[in-house]
Amino acid sequence: MPAPTTPSAKAIYDKDRSFVFHSWSAQSSVDPLVITGADGVHVIDGDGNRLLDFSSQLVYTNIGHQHPKVVAAVAEQAHQLCTIAPAHANEARARAAELIIDIAPEGFRKVFFTNGGADAVEHAIRMARLTTGRYKTLSAFRGYHGATQQAINLTGDPRRWPSDYGSAGSVHFFAPFLYRSQFNAETDEQECERALAHLRSLIEFEGPAGFAAIILESIPGTAGIMPPPAGYLAGVRALCDEFGIVMILDEVMAGFGRTGKWLALEHFDAVPDLITFAKGVNSGYVPLGGVMISERIADEFATRAYPGGLTYSGHPLACAAAVATIETMHDEHVVDNAALIGETVLGPGLAELAERHPVIGDVRGLGVFWAIELVADRDTKEPLAPYGGSSPAMAAIASRAQRNGLLMFQNMNRFHLTPPCIVSAEETKQALAILDDALCAL
Ligand code: PMP
Repeated sequence: MPAPTTPSAKAIYDKDRSFVFHSWSAQSSVDPLVITGADGVHVIDGDGNRLLDFSSQLVYTNIGHQHPKVVAAVAEQAHQLCTIAPAHANEARARAAELIIDIAPEGFRKVFFTNGGADAVEHAIRMARLTTGRYKTLSAFRGYHGATQQAINLTGDPRRWPSDYGSAGSVHFFAPFLYRSQFNAETDEQECERALAHLRSLIEFEGPAGFAAIILESIPGTAGIMPPPAGYLAGVRALCDEFGIVMILDEVMAGFGRTGKWLALEHFDAVPDLITFAKGVNSGYVPLGGVMISERIADEFATRAYPGGLTYSGHPLACAAAVATIETMHDEHVVDNAALIGETVLGPGLAELAERHPVIGDVRGLGVFWAIELVADRDTKEPLAPYGGSSPAMAAIASRAQRNGLLMFQNMNRFHLTPPCIVSAEETKQALAILDDALCAL
């Protein structure tokens, strides 16, 4: 038998362009980077170049690429039992749920597994509606919750616009964001107080008895990595209690070590009723997401059936990857590493770049979850790309960084620096040096 030949990068590219329909893009304009391998913090492109993956793909390879323990766990599970329906019990699924509840706040009891983030959000909303007997939802404009019908309606960013067919009962609000305050606030305290007053007014004017759920990201990610001011999430909790609304925190992007804590909500001592997760739970080696359910909500379905399920809920391959990911993160102190890198290298390094590059208007984040916001003018804060759009200047910086070996996530006028939680100080410094050079592309 002839030895198998590896297709060339050009052949892979051409085949992709011929047959793959790409997300969020005009098909004629997509220009995908061919990736043929990866390890740790690096991906390898079709020409054999090693790039620092400071995107963590879509912010999910928290344990890094091709971690041998996770790869081995998936292979072992595949040999033993590839798949089993959700109604049966299986060690990988049960152990994954146990490990997830172990990192959840006090009072959380059960895990409902999904295939990713959007369906986790769908089910959390459904649980809230069934629990309260109400329908309406509240979610933030600067937020992203997924691309299925309910999740895209809850999403506040411009990707919602073309898919929003008059989403009945989906009400959006402004969450705090001091750099571009909607409330003319000058301090975090003012921003927090005014954002909570705004949310209260919305609830009162819309009619409190109509709301089933408030959903928000503990730290909004895709929309710009904006840690809320101290007291905001506690204030939302108080409003939920006052008006009988279920509080859902979306930890799909910020969870599982990314912010230097297991869950981002730990930074704020916030305890919601439901928590959605995906991505970092198993570093995306096999698709997995889910809902962590507090005792109060779990009890609702103790004697009454929960009317929902998914064929692949708690898929053994995905759960085996979750077990290996979480256990390895514990054993190798990966969450502490994320906190340390953020405090000692990535955060200070970005702040230092901002001192030398006036195009950086704002630097924010924590752990290995950082954004820089680029502006044409620091005083007016005019963004370097319009809201909902892109610009040649942003593209020039991204492509110079990529040519020099750095991948970042780009959204509108922002670059997000979100490496795997295992990133070293040395790799972080290399990335900062490449970014420093790329900012000179302007
Ligand atoms: N919620 C948040 C906070 C997210 O960041 C994302 C994905 N970026 C989702 C939900 C949707 O997850 P998925 O793409 O797995 O459906």
